[in-house]
Amino acid sequence: MDTKKVGLVYTDQYTKYNFGINHPLRPLRLSLTYSLMEKLGLLDNENLEIIKPRYATREEIELVHKPKYVSVVETLSKNPQDPTVKPFLYGLGPGDNPVFEGMYDASALVCGASISAAEKVWNDDDFNRTFNPAGGLHHAMIDKASGFCIFNDIAVAIRYLQKQNPDIRVAYLDIDCHHGDGVQWVFYDDPNVLTISLHESGKYLFPGTGNTDEIGEGAGEGYAINFPLIPGTSTKMYLRLFKECIPKILDTYRPDLLVTQLGVDTHFNDPLTQLGASIKLYKLLAKEIDKYTQKYCNNKWLAVGGGGYLMTVVPRAWSLFLAQMLNIELENELPQEWIQEAKKSVTNEDTPYLLWDRGDKIEVQLLAHPELAKKMNEYTNSLIELCNNQYIENLK
Ligand SMILES: [Zn+2]
Repeated sequence: MDTKKVGLVYTDQYTKYNFGINHPLRPLRLSLTYSLMEKLGLLDNENLEIIKPRYATREEIELVHKPKYVSVVETLSKNPQDPTVKPFLYGLGPGDNPVFEGMYDASALVCGASISAAEKVWNDDDFNRTFNPAGGLHHAMIDKASGFCIFNDIAVAIRYLQKQNPDIRVAYLDIDCHHGDGVQWVFYDDPNVLTISLHESGKYLFPGTGNTDEIGEGAGEGYAINFPLIPGTSTKMYLRLFKECIPKILDTYRPDLLVTQLGVDTHFNDPLTQLGASIKLYKLLAKEIDKYTQKYCNNKWLAVGGGGYLMTVVPRAWSLFLAQMLNIELENELPQEWIQEAKKSVTNEDTPYLLWDRGDKIEVQLLAHPELAKKMNEYTNSLIELCNNQYIENLK
């Protein structure tokens, strides 16, 4: 068994990435996550080290983003009403990505945190797992903000590693309910970064991309892989697809490092999406990903957070991922103190009593309709077939 260290990159300053009171990406997601990890005893573990993140430099941010866009973010960050720039030309403004004072530093910190996580897992032999729960801003494009994401911390961290190690091969696995479009487009022509995204189909959900024919271009052809899922996809179906396809892809590609975006908005109750996963899925995925990292990915795993808009789901799911990294089997009982804390700060969700709950109930509900169950089964089979016949072949 591996007893190497696990790095959790965390600071209270993360809560400054804040689009305002009515925005779904609430800083509370992160503070409640940290608190649950603490109360579950994960932060006292002898193999856990808390890493304080640094700010990414402008030069590092520009490894991915256009200087003009970076300047616009900087200007609006100082004065959100600056009359010399038109925020809407850069994806900023009322709606998904409202401008807020201090947004440059808040975004540079998230990028710096993912760089810290990447640096630690890659350069320090004592570490083979690092996790930046504030990261995972996968929609940000090179010249504009998108889907709550200002700077793309994932792409910046990967480019940072590439700069130091020009031949490094990275597999990026994105389990967020939304397509990992920003990361896919940055590395679309790069065979050294394989992007894999499982998400609710773009036919039904933002950002509308992630179809099976998006496979990369030029030298990168075959190195973008997409699994668009149909609404209602259950834990059982998701897991069947995942176990059939992901290990084969990673075994064929054999990266030096696995980067995962761990969005948990695939949950059946998530207010923004329509998939049917339970928290149990995250517990099982953590096990699978950990296993594949050891077998196929040089035993190096860099994890970042992502979406998830239920304040009582995100902390539980990400605690399960951290526990798996530390090789700890948690009890299903939630700490009383945390339940009380959640009750006080989250008033519009049922108070949870278990770490992973209701998994079986939602599964039965989803598959109770024979027509839907049949459709889901057939669709999953078609994706597995596509993976075996095309995706894997493209990598050879
Ligand atoms: Zn998402």
